[in-house]
Amino acid sequence: MPIREIIKYPNPVLRQKAAPVTEFNEELKKLVSDMAETMYAAPGVGLAANQIGLAIQVVVIDISPKEEKNKLIPLINPEILEGEGAEVEEEGCLSVVDYAATVKRFAHIRVRACNLDGAQVEFEADGWFARVIQHEVDHLHGKLFIDHLSSLKKTLYKKKRRKQLLEEQAALDDKQD
Ligand SMILES: [Zn+2]
Repeated sequence: MPIREIIKYPNPVLRQKAAPVTEFNEELKKLVSDMAETMYAAPGVGLAANQIGLAIQVVVIDISPKEEKNKLIPLINPEILEGEGAEVEEEGCLSVVDYAATVKRFAHIRVRACNLDGAQVEFEADGWFARVIQHEVDHLHGKLFIDHLSSLKKTLYKKKRRKQLLEEQAALDDKQD
């Protein structure tokens, strides 16, 4: 099962609103399995389908400690029904290269999603788990954690990223000469 390429900011697919999944078939199971493999290899604690170039409402999460990465939680068509409290913690993203910043999120959320068989489940989440779910559901809405930052911080990140992309391009041009 192949590891997929992780799409990086500012690729426009990261800004697309993901469409709901309507068919719970083998293809979906295979996608979730590829996404899990891609997330573990990165390594990361969550991955949304937009991040591998597919704007559909599929997310995988595993926040268990590194040694025992085996508590995979696939969420299909996830929705945050309610949120309360607030927590500020540092976040990063596999699609936002070399950057981390503190983001304010709900401390406690209520979530509705489907499992791989299409059965609807509702559950509550707190703390770090709640944060990761909010981050991934944002992806499905075309939103990134940098959108939660002040415009100054966001501008600084954009500049840094632009410079990085120019450097990558220059390195590529050198190789081709
Ligand atoms: Zn992310």
